[in-house]
Amino acid sequence: MSQSLPELAQRREAIAQRIAQLGDLRPGCVTSTSGRCGKPNCRCHQPGEPAHGPHFRLTYKMNGKTISESCPLRRPSTRRSEKSRSSVNSRT
Ligand SMILES: [Zn+2]
Repeated sequence: MSQSLPELAQRREAIAQRIAQLGDLRPGCVTSTSGRCGKPNCRCHQPGEPAHGPHFRLTYKMNGKTISESCPLRRPSTRRSEKSRSSVNSRT
């Protein structure tokens, strides 16, 4: 599939406009961590229990220093959608 140069330029312009609409852009890298903690009594060390996380961290450089801070990103909650689905069912 071949695209002409004007078509590609138009597509590039459309993508650039969408990026410009994002706002609040900052350089950095978002990583997720999950695993078992150092407390032997914690539930994460019990068989069959899930590990902690994922916790998201934003890492970026400022004035030559690497800064890492927790990031309020959350995975979409499947529990909430299940709850709303069941409340819809109970109404009918
Ligand atoms: Zn733990």
